[in-house]
Amino acid sequence: MISCNNRQNPFFQDWDTPYGNAPFSQIKTTDYLPAFKEGIKQQKAEIQAIIDCPDQPTFENTVAAYDRSGELLSKVIGVFFNLTESDSTPEMQAIEEEVMPMITEAENEVMMNEAFFARVKAVYDNMDGLTREQQMVTKKLYQSFERGGVGLDPEGKKRFAEVSTRLSTLSQKFGQNLLAENNAFKEATGITVSEYYDFMGSCPDRAKREQVFKAYSSRGNNGNDNDNNAIVLEILKLRAEMAQLLGYPSFAAFQLSDKMAGDPVTVDNFLQPIMDAAMKKAKEEMKDMKAIAGHDIEPWDYSYYAEKVRAQKFALDESQTKPYFQADSVLKGVFSAAEMVYGIHIEEAPEVEVYNPAAKAYKLTDADGSLLGIFYKDYYVRPTKRGGAWMNNFRDQAGDVRPIIVNVCNFPAPGEDPTDAKPSLLTIDNVQTAFHEFGHALHGFLTKCNYESVSGTSVARDFVEMFSQFNENWAFVPEILAVYANDYRTGEPIPAELVAKIQKALKFNQGFTTGELCAASILDMKWHELTAEQLAAFNGPEDIRAFEAKVCKEMGLVDEIIPRYRTTYFNHIFNSGYSAGYYSYLWSEVLAVDAWEKFLSDGIFNKATAESFRRTFLEKGGSEEPMTLYLQFRGSAPAPAALMRARGLQ
Ligand SMILES: [Zn+2]
Repeated sequence: MISCNNRQNPFFQDWDTPYGNAPFSQIKTTDYLPAFKEGIKQQKAEIQAIIDCPDQPTFENTVAAYDRSGELLSKVIGVFFNLTESDSTPEMQAIEEEVMPMITEAENEVMMNEAFFARVKAVYDNMDGLTREQQMVTKKLYQSFERGGVGLDPEGKKRFAEVSTRLSTLSQKFGQNLLAENNAFKEATGITVSEYYDFMGSCPDRAKREQVFKAYSSRGNNGNDNDNNAIVLEILKLRAEMAQLLGYPSFAAFQLSDKMAGDPVTVDNFLQPIMDAAMKKAKEEMKDMKAIAGHDIEPWDYSYYAEKVRAQKFALDESQTKPYFQADSVLKGVFSAAEMVYGIHIEEAPEVEVYNPAAKAYKLTDADGSLLGIFYKDYYVRPTKRGGAWMNNFRDQAGDVRPIIVNVCNFPAPGEDPTDAKPSLLTIDNVQTAFHEFGHALHGFLTKCNYESVSGTSVARDFVEMFSQFNENWAFVPEILAVYANDYRTGEPIPAELVAKIQKALKFNQGFTTGELCAASILDMKWHELTAEQLAAFNGPEDIRAFEAKVCKEMGLVDEIIPRYRTTYFNHIFNSGYSAGYYSYLWSEVLAVDAWEKFLSDGIFNKATAESFRRTFLEKGGSEEPMTLYLQFRGSAPAPAALMRARGLQ
């Protein structure tokens, strides 16, 4: 055995790998913490050097210098936070707990640094000679300072810091209460929260459904130790105060000010027509359901009888479709769609090391052979992975540096025994997820920006889902299905009548699905549009319940449907980044379907249209305002009617 005492931490070395990809096998768990500490130290020194620069502030010596800073920190963040999500260990979790406060503190220090802000402001105040991309980079940095409270007087700053700290404690508390309530729900009903929708669609025992519905919809609202009403009220009041400190009338106005939608009124005017169409559809759906049930539909009957109607009208059984959607074939379809539409090329890259044997690396090149980036596919469920599906960067694109991107999903894992290998067969929903996540990946791969802070998916929250949702369209197009949807046992292509059934079923039950989603979006907006003065009149749980009921009535929500999330278990808006932002899903979807309608009218494989989509959106990332890009591509503003058509509401 040779003992190497002089082993170096790989994060402190240049990576001698084919594409500068991480040498995972050389990284030890003990390498992370020193790399984080050194990375933070280096970035601090780089920022100090920007501040100490004797020259007049310029874009290059201030904003661009900051955009380039923190190379070591980005390197370790890229590896560490991808692995804590997809391949975590207790040791990694312990490190995460230690480094999170360090990173937050370092970020806060930058955002509260007045000398640095003064230089950024000097550049921002005179952006005349800058390119459009440079202006956007500068604006983004300037806004993050402003939104962090750097412009406040000392007293304001103090209060801002108090409010921020209290808000993060309250959000955490909201989440903990909800977790306890979810566990209590499971104890009382025997099912988990994630099984709720399936259960409501399949349980024939009406009394049991009623019990489950009531337990589910009253989480956090039971007057016990885990009641979230008081927490919600304090969060709302503090958010309104914070917005007021920063000069906005409401928290919604503050949140929307750097989004594509721009202001709360725009969002309200966007959501209400969708709500109206969904409720009109829901009333039709309920007629079909009543005919089968022979009685009125209560909220706990909706999904159950919807499934009965589905079976009667569509007769789609997923055990028929699954053999055509073996995971490897679906990946082939995902890649082929991108190759056919954008003229790029994707091939396996066995020379690139992966972080888990279940992951696989690929190389993407453009039509001229130039490298676009490296892609890791990590599709199968395993205990070390968190739930859900996502795209993330290991390395961002900037200038000549090409991105390294991962798609992580939780699809059923294939069997391990090679002689009796059980294939991974995907549901229709899984197939859409695979195309969705690769849509985010394409946004990351096809970007051509000079600055990291605006490249790829670094765009506003209500814009980013446009590209993933857009890419879902290719999943069930006959020309793409022909490439990938073959029965894994026989190689037979998927029959046309099964494809027709899938397409029809995708539009099923949209009165309910769109209605509950839109109702939650409106509820989120109405809570955050309240001013500090209006909220002062709210005193307790009764006021919260009354307001929610009033909002639901005013939006026209039928009694048989409740918002997808009610106030006391609306984790997205009280314990996640979606406050005054839950509308983003529908907003992005409109952009996606409206853009798709252009593809449909030009011919979906029209080269010029795909080229325009690529150059206008995918290349540009956040280097231009989303609406400017949209108008360039489409020639007119996105039309919500396209969403109604796509969801079968019109
Ligand atoms: Zn997404």
